[in-house]
Amino acid sequence: MIRLPDRKGRFGIYGGKFAPETLMAPIEQLENAYFSIGRSRQFRKEFSYYLKQYVGRPTPLYFASNLSEIISCKVYLKREDLAFTGAHKINNTVGQVLLAKKMGKTRVIAETGAGQHGVATATAAALFKMKCEIYMGEVDMQRQALNVYRMKLLGAKVTCVKSGSRTLKDAINEAMRDWISSFKDTHYVIGTVVGFHPFPVMVRDFQSVIGKEAKKQILKAEGRLPDFLIACVGGGSNSMGLFFPFFRNKNVKFIGVEAAGKGIDTDFHAATLCRGTPGILHGNFSYVLQDKEGQIHPTHSVSAGLDYPGIGPEHSYYKDTGRAEYYAATDQQVLKAFHILSEAEGIIPALESSHALAYMIENKNRFKQDDIVIVCLSGRGDKDVNEVARIEGIPL
Ligand SMILES: *Cc1c(COP(=O)(O)O)cnc(C)c1O
Repeated sequence: MIRLPDRKGRFGIYGGKFAPETLMAPIEQLENAYFSIGRSRQFRKEFSYYLKQYVGRPTPLYFASNLSEIISCKVYLKREDLAFTGAHKINNTVGQVLLAKKMGKTRVIAETGAGQHGVATATAAALFKMKCEIYMGEVDMQRQALNVYRMKLLGAKVTCVKSGSRTLKDAINEAMRDWISSFKDTHYVIGTVVGFHPFPVMVRDFQSVIGKEAKKQILKAEGRLPDFLIACVGGGSNSMGLFFPFFRNKNVKFIGVEAAGKGIDTDFHAATLCRGTPGILHGNFSYVLQDKEGQIHPTHSVSAGLDYPGIGPEHSYYKDTGRAEYYAATDQQVLKAFHILSEAEGIIPALESSHALAYMIENKNRFKQDDIVIVCLSGRGDKDVNEVARIEGIPL
């Protein structure tokens, strides 16, 4: 079997490098650095050191006995919510900023929507003594004022983007513009498995620690591999991080859960694989939420982290080949799941992660008594408590 992606960064027909000429130089420099330095034994050793000492890995694989009773199967939670800063994003930013340092860069930039990736990047930048600038849409800065201050506390400069819809996709454009003129000393940290090659494969590799640990942990706990892996899908990094190390284990079924928002038959969702069509967005060929003219659809989800009209190319490949199944959970189902886990296990999940739980809760007849299911709890829900209270009309 061939190893994917191929040398052009293709996963089947998906992926690749669709970038303007002015970006080819930094992209090729990064590609060379990743495949030489980033895959070296020395780098992997250092990366593991920081994952252990700084991020606090391995994260537990927790047998959720109360939730197991509710679903009537064996449910294990991969506790990425217990990683430092409260979500899986830090695995990737520590990897990329460490690589940037090895490449001799002195500055990192990133875009952020809700602020989660911005905070994770600013954290890693502080750790490795790098200058840091985060691009963020004006609308998002107003909605996420606390995360803006958090990034500033961590020493980052936050630049307000006032073009277009003043949200995530405009912040991405602005960060790319910066990188074109600054790449000699600057690395651009993309937060998920999207963008031009080598980002999808690099981010997948950095996040694969999730699945590698889970595999060891489940073999120790149960003496066999799981029947199902379930994870929420925004750009696709926590899910790919969990799935990829099980790719060759054909009996392990992969389930990705997207944001159905107000319903996948409305205009208010972010279910790219369930409802999109192949096209080009932010440097790669993959499923995209677009109209017939290729204009990108606006998206909606109760969880900011899933609110993106694209998807990593490797997921598109998994979808077309049937290696993974993709579904979507509505805001309403997600809020229900958020409450169920909080009450059943004393664990408040991120609204993003609640999508994975919602699929399981809504489809519990699919799971048999001795099925083993691993759910990726991609982040903790403390950040979402205010928003849930607001939606439910509870004054704080
Ligand atoms: C950003 C985020 C996600 C979605 O991103 P993926 O790349 O699809 O993993 C999911 N969960 C949490 C907690 C996040 O912060």
